[in-house]
Amino acid sequence: MSLNILIVDDSAVIRKMIIKTLGLSALPLGEVCEAGNGQEALDIMDRQWIDLVFADLNMPVMDGEVMIEKIRSNPEWADVPIIVVSTEGSRTRIERLQSQGVRFVHKPFSPEQICRVVDNLLELCHEE
Ligand SMILES: [Mg+2]
Repeated sequence: MSLNILIVDDSAVIRKMIIKTLGLSALPLGEVCEAGNGQEALDIMDRQWIDLVFADLNMPVMDGEVMIEKIRSNPEWADVPIIVVSTEGSRTRIERLQSQGVRFVHKPFSPEQICRVVDNLLELCHEE
């Protein structure tokens, strides 16, 4: 089993940091795709099956919250695990996202935080 991963962030530096962290983890990586905003991410998901999404919130063209709504309202993508990686500080906004089954990691993040949240998600997937 290998996982196709989509990393959505308008910062190429952050995308590279997440990719580097995943490379150091025990995660079996398949395709690793990058998108600079929500619209690019949806275009990629149209073409390619994605097992796990890392998403920023503040992005041009289409922000992370709109993108997440669109992913969750598409029956084909509704259950795709999403990890939001953001500087977001509003409890209400974070809770609204968590109610859609989204995990949250604060920026700046450590590689350990990313690994922990991925491990948790995958354990949940195995239990199902
Ligand atoms: Mg951003």
